Amino acid sequence: MIPGPFYILFLVFVGTALLVFAYGLFTTAGAKKLEPLGPERGKRGESGVCPVCGRVLKNGEQIKSAVFPGEGERLVHIFGCPHCHPYPEKGIERLCPVCKKPVSAESYLIARLFERPHKKRHVHILGCLSCRLPKRK
Ligand SMILES: [Zn+2]
Ligand SMILES: [Zn+2]
Repeated sequence: MIPGPFYILFLVFVGTALLVFAYGLFTTAGAKKLEPLGPERGKRGESGVCPVCGRVLKNGEQIKSAVFPGEGERLVHIFGCPHCHPYPEKGIERLCPVCKKPVSAESYLIARLFERPHKKRHVHILGCLSCRLPKRK
């Protein structure tokens, strides 16, 4: 025979265990939704995706960059897309695709633009200021 108070305690324990289990399921599902690969987020480095914040760009949205004069291989500074430059939108993270460190709003990524006759333009991201340039002491 189980005494009354113990029986109630047992039920409370089962209830708590179920709640914890449900909470675990819920948070796992929630965490999965926050993965960067959503409908508006793409892989950094793919065409049509901002290399700074990883957002898929719509028609007319352009990445702001500065291309330095030269021939063949040209140096490019990539500042970002309208969603992350000059002011990052809520929930937008400016990250370097090379070292995964945050890129501040005033900072930029360094890239190389390859332009060859009769070939598609190709942009190769080299990194941000902190991983591309040697650290000043
Ligand atoms: Zn962006
Ligand atoms: Zn970097």
